[in-house]
Amino acid sequence: MKLQDFPRYPLTFGPSPIQRLDRLTQHLGGAQIWAKREDCNSGLAFGGNKIRKLEYIIPDAIASGADTLVSIGGYQSNHTRQVAAVAAHLGMKCLLVQEKWVPWDDPMNTKVGNILLSRMMGADSRLDDAGFDIGIRDSWKNALAEVEAKGGKPYAIPAGASEHPLGGLGFANWAFEVAEQEKALGVTFDTIVVCTVTGSTHAGMIAGFAALEDRTGVKRRVLGIDASATLAKTRDQVERIARHTAQVMELGRDLRADEIRVLEGWAGDLYGIPVESTMNAMALGAQLEAFITDPVYEGKSLAGLIDLVQDREIPADSNVLYAHLGGQLALNAYHSLWS
Ligand SMILES: *Cc1c(COP(=O)(O)O)cnc(C)c1O
Repeated sequence: MKLQDFPRYPLTFGPSPIQRLDRLTQHLGGAQIWAKREDCNSGLAFGGNKIRKLEYIIPDAIASGADTLVSIGGYQSNHTRQVAAVAAHLGMKCLLVQEKWVPWDDPMNTKVGNILLSRMMGADSRLDDAGFDIGIRDSWKNALAEVEAKGGKPYAIPAGASEHPLGGLGFANWAFEVAEQEKALGVTFDTIVVCTVTGSTHAGMIAGFAALEDRTGVKRRVLGIDASATLAKTRDQVERIARHTAQVMELGRDLRADEIRVLEGWAGDLYGIPVESTMNAMALGAQLEAFITDPVYEGKSLAGLIDLVQDREIPADSNVLYAHLGGQLALNAYHSLWS
């Protein structure tokens, strides 16, 4: 089936805005830097990248007759907050398993930011002290069984909405949205920079831009910046989801190895723990552009963008589009970094 034929339940405001980052561009002295703002994409509880994935997953949830969305993430998961938001919007129940993915022992970590909003929106949020893993977990299977045992009908949405057959479609569609916006802006983005952890954001973009390349001949580099610090797992997951998404949207060819690029060097040692490059990038974005990023995801991918532009790995004549995927609410749990 072609992408435009998949059912999509609108949860976004429409195309997310693209802005120029003039002061950051000037400061780095290389490529022209633009950002597309998934942190401003929806009216539902501050939005973020998972909303786009859910646009293609929710029709399946509704068709299944489910009454409860069940999902999993870390204590400060942006994803589970977005699932809670969509459940509230649709009048469904929501059960969340929230694990100790990050060894960040601030007592506010289980109280403020994302988890606070999830609770406010009526989600049943269960804390579990299991560590970080982007795979399928027992705690999550148990949560599904519990909903059934109580006579409910659960719909399972995996971590980051990635390991779902439709998980890549939202960001395949993002690629087509970018192409439309390029016409209006009179610019072509030859390089895309995106944070990657559970993989379907980056993977969807890869499939979408591959389809565009076949249609228009425009070649681009879609650079995923690993923030999982478990590079091999994330790279495998990106590749698997990209190939699957390309197949379900009938790309009609295999993806080339050079279309799947997950770069390492900015994740630090652990998921969710910032390093010096993260802190510097967050400060630079905030102080030059009031461009607010978080220490888990966007601070790390912004650090990648900064180095790639400065080192001319992204050439000075490039137009680079940084995908801002959201995440600012988690900053509340990281107040001690700045106080
Ligand atoms: C989930 C998330 C990511 C990573 O996206 P994946 O699809 O899991 O790779 C990046 N940034 C933010 C703010 C996120 O919430």
